[in-house]
Amino acid sequence: SNWPRTGDLEIEDLVVEYVPNVPVLHGLSMSIKHGEKIGVVGRTGAGKSTLSLAFLRFIEAAKGRIVLDGVDISKIGLEDLRRNVTIIPQDPVLFNGTIRFNLDPFSEYPDEIVWDALHRAHLVRERGSQTASTAISVFEGNAIDSSLERMSGIFTSLEAEIKENGQNLSLGQRQLVALARALVRRSRLIIMDEATASVDFDTDDRIQRTIRGSEFADSTLFCIAHRLRTIIDYDRVLVLDKGKVAEFDTPANL
Ligand code: ATP
Ligand code: MG
Repeated sequence: SNWPRTGDLEIEDLVVEYVPNVPVLHGLSMSIKHGEKIGVVGRTGAGKSTLSLAFLRFIEAAKGRIVLDGVDISKIGLEDLRRNVTIIPQDPVLFNGTIRFNLDPFSEYPDEIVWDALHRAHLVRERGSQTASTAISVFEGNAIDSSLERMSGIFTSLEAEIKENGQNLSLGQRQLVALARALVRRSRLIIMDEATASVDFDTDDRIQRTIRGSEFADSTLFCIAHRLRTIIDYDRVLVLDKGKVAEFDTPANL
């Protein structure tokens, strides 16, 4: 199907509960325009992860609805929904196999698109087919150095091998691969749970540049942020408090 064409999102009186009649989200309502970058903050237990689970219907709304590009997501088949909405957890799961397989497991897209996604996720420097001369560094299994210079050219071949659970990549690099996967699929809605402490500054910077750059102009993005620095440049910040919207405004107005 061609749904969704846009990342326009309406959340209408959304109530979510794990235990009947014990709401964890108490009737959230908000309108989000295609392409907006939303930072989500709030204390532990505020309901941030619950909201992200609701977007993929890992937990169903007890009341209210989430409407993506004009369609109530509860009316969409689960497989279709989860193919189109991307969630990037704190510690993304990668498969044992090539980088190509990790980005396009069903071989649905041409190499060009896979390279383009790697480029846009700042995992390779050059767009298009890579040659020895454009290759910056060789993929060296466990010996990946996460310095900026070497990050620029982690993948010099689409056949580069990813080990079980992405053990040969750092946490931040795994998030970048997951972002690249979202770019291949052209997800119109992406929910990211920002990686915490263990991500080095350069990788974190690269993730944030990827998210905020033109690369994601066509995607609405929610980023559950743990650092204030992260959300400074976002379009709006959603502050959740005990399952309610405490604030929803531009960073400048907060
Ligand atoms: P954190 O910043 O710690 O990740 P959060 O904002 O993501 O917190 P949630 O995980 O959404 O918070 O939890 C919101 C509320 O829902 C909490 O009170 C939590 O105890 C409850 N909750 C979360 N998962 C479950 C579950 N599987 N069963 C029952 N209650 C749950
Ligand atoms: Mg959480």
